[in-house]
Amino acid sequence: MAKKKDTSITPGMQKYITLNNKYLAKRDRYINKEVKKWKFDTIAVHGLYSVNDAIEDYQGAIIEPIFMSTAQAYRDSDEMAAALAYKIPTWCYSRIANPSTYYYEWTLALLEGYGFKGKTSCCSTSSGMSAIMTAVQPFLIVKKSATEKRNFVATAQCYGGTFQQFTIRLMQERNIECRWVLDATNIDEWASKIDENTRFLYGELPSNPQLGFFDIKEVADLAHSHNLPLIVDSTVATPALLRPICHGADIVVQSATKSLTTSGFGVCGGIIARKDLICNIDDDQLKTDFSLFVKYLQNRDFGPNLHPMQAVMTMNDMRTLRSKMDMLSRSTMEISQFLEGHPDIESVHYLGLPTHPLHDLASKYMWLVDAEHDAQYGMPVNRYGHLMSFCVKGGVPKTRKFFDNLQRIWRATDLGRIKSVATIPAISTHQQQGEAGRKLANIPPNMVRLSVGAEHPTDIIADLDKALRKAKKK
Ligand SMILES: *Cc1c(COP(=O)(O)O)cnc(C)c1O
Repeated sequence: MAKKKDTSITPGMQKYITLNNKYLAKRDRYINKEVKKWKFDTIAVHGLYSVNDAIEDYQGAIIEPIFMSTAQAYRDSDEMAAALAYKIPTWCYSRIANPSTYYYEWTLALLEGYGFKGKTSCCSTSSGMSAIMTAVQPFLIVKKSATEKRNFVATAQCYGGTFQQFTIRLMQERNIECRWVLDATNIDEWASKIDENTRFLYGELPSNPQLGFFDIKEVADLAHSHNLPLIVDSTVATPALLRPICHGADIVVQSATKSLTTSGFGVCGGIIARKDLICNIDDDQLKTDFSLFVKYLQNRDFGPNLHPMQAVMTMNDMRTLRSKMDMLSRSTMEISQFLEGHPDIESVHYLGLPTHPLHDLASKYMWLVDAEHDAQYGMPVNRYGHLMSFCVKGGVPKTRKFFDNLQRIWRATDLGRIKSVATIPAISTHQQQGEAGRKLANIPPNMVRLSVGAEHPTDIIADLDKALRKAKKK
């Protein structure tokens, strides 16, 4: 990784390094001259896996092979030495890298970097939670003494697991202060929480389940003015609707388990970072290529690696991401309008509804990628995703009764599935953070979160209507 002249390189190793430098130069040319010029859908379908790769290395397999192998063998000791010193791009051992996860990482890096002028790279992780852990960890190192104070600033409206990771694992167990931003649209509140011990800013948008939002560019500018990176959890939007790095964010975390993979076969994650990071940690490798730093150094030692089987299954789902997010967003719009007009519903939270207080802000950022190049639209169109929430009139008993009467919609703590799934966050995803934590994140007990699937929306509307009617009966 380092560019310094290295005396540990023998002539035997140099032979392999030269060979691999040629390969890397060829790959760079392919990315810059071809891949970067493609539209989003083409990148989602092909990523970096080319006809050439397939024919030269993989017996012509048109789908990326699943490399179910723990380790890679080397021709000789020189190649092994060069590989284990990270002087050549080989994969060594599946905890560090693997050819299947490699293609998954490139697809994700290119999709999150679509439209971005600079370069992006990705490190795959075993889950969304390990992506978050992996992304924040490098900034929490102790720089001076063991008693040094460290803090970070984060949106209180976030996924329940994130709340737990920050509150228990970091605050309680490691004495690292998480300063919650209660109103993420208030830039002064963000600014007032930053001091000389702050390491990064963190925001989730749209947030799960309340659909919180903030002005990414404004918060990114604030972060950079303090020499800090902005980390964004963009799970609910996916790169088909929003690419935070294009608006100034430095690192994106994805729970690929969710909207990126409608099939729902397994848990999966990733971090995507821009190269040449702005931060107050004095480490050149970290700054130059954050994802690679995490992958080759930190995660080699922590081991939250992704299984190659899941990598290929996730990649397979991502190929049709744009059209799926478009269809699901349109259905969700229709369903949210139905609920908004329903007498038994107290409130509906969907960023696509003009009545939503954050609608205008979300409309600034959430666009269906490439709609202007699409024969169907031929112009930019806003799309707001397939996550919505609503509160049922009559408090907890009515909410539970309604929920228990759903037939087509599955009761589960999941989102992003091809099937519609509903949950009550206060008793599921956000149960463990307790009453006070839920208040902080704005999650009332009669809130239902709905992740709209690919069924015809009229059937989902009928299911909701029937369950609401049944909830009214004695
Ligand atoms: C589910 C979720 C996570 C955690 O992802 P896992 O893959 O379940 O570990 C993180 N952020 C958001 C917004 C989520 O919805």
